[in-house]
Amino acid sequence: MMRRFEGKKLLVATHNAGKLAEMRALLAPFGVEVVGAAEMGLAEPVETEDNFVGNARIKAHAAVAATGLPALSDDSGISVDALGGAPGVYTADWAETGNGRDFGMAMERTWRELEAVDAPHPRNAQFRCTLVLAWPDGHDEVFEGVLPGQVTWPPRGVEGHGYDPIFVPDGHEITLGEMSPDAKNTLSHRAIAVAKMLEASFA
Ligand code: IMP
Repeated sequence: MMRRFEGKKLLVATHNAGKLAEMRALLAPFGVEVVGAAEMGLAEPVETEDNFVGNARIKAHAAVAATGLPALSDDSGISVDALGGAPGVYTADWAETGNGRDFGMAMERTWRELEAVDAPHPRNAQFRCTLVLAWPDGHDEVFEGVLPGQVTWPPRGVEGHGYDPIFVPDGHEITLGEMSPDAKNTLSHRAIAVAKMLEASFA
């Protein structure tokens, strides 16, 4: 049974500023105010699962346990076909330096690995977003969005976050990094997942 979310304030269990800004913009038209995990002083749980739903559940349930409030988490990443779906759930890990995240390095690794296997063009990939909306009684719901496209090189654009500058969505000529936030929010994997959640739980 789908459960309706009652209330105007939603705790979004992410420390990622890019994701948070997109959630805020996507939910604002529906009167939902977003509060981030960092603002609430929440710790970032370790993501020990090997799949998006498992890691999204860890983040949502940790936030619920810490606050007693319903919480929404986002686990996402880019899966490149010619790399067997990598980096996938390890998308953020490819940017890890031990001293913060470097997405220039992560994008370079993606391209280097494609070159190493001499992958044919177009170099198809998908951005995936898994949302988990969890309540204090343990109930949760899962929503997914997929955005197909191609990996391009060199990176283009300064908008967005993460791997946006090397990803051209199907049917477009420009990267997500070259799109305005409003344009990205009409088509992104996150927008697709949020639309499903709004229909199921906020309608
Ligand atoms: P996680 O969900 O915290 O494991 O991290 C997901 C990672 O995927 C982020 O750190 C970003 O690098 C990447 N990612 C997720 N969504 C997007 C997006 O919309 N654009 C670019 N990169 C993204």
